[in-house]
Amino acid sequence: MYCNDYADETVATIASEQQRIVLTRDRALLQRKIIRYGYFVRADIPKIQIKEVLKKFGLFHLIKPLTRCTHCNGKLLETHKKEIEHRLQPLTRKHYDKFLVCTACEQIYWQGSHCTRVQRLIDEFVQC
Ligand SMILES: [Zn+2]
Repeated sequence: MYCNDYADETVATIASEQQRIVLTRDRALLQRKIIRYGYFVRADIPKIQIKEVLKKFGLFHLIKPLTRCTHCNGKLLETHKKEIEHRLQPLTRKHYDKFLVCTACEQIYWQGSHCTRVQRLIDEFVQC
């Protein structure tokens, strides 16, 4: 489950138990002995941090836009409009036909104007 306000001890425990890599700008956190894999992110601007981490770990080929929920990181699956149209606002129901639903939190997604911005941002990362 995604959370951006874990205590340092919780981050260290999760990283240790799940063999995860801790990405942080907190040197004290990385010095905890329980953390086996860690990386100090040098950039302090989020867009540049993303590029730095993608490059450091060679992750560019793993970018799969619009496959995970931005709220909880659950997987998104296509759904039929009829199954979720009772949850849509009238203009969304009128103008869109293709929808994705988060398998974890049931958030609904559609190809609105934000998708163009997201795709532009991803294109920017991929061109590094
Ligand atoms: Zn979700």
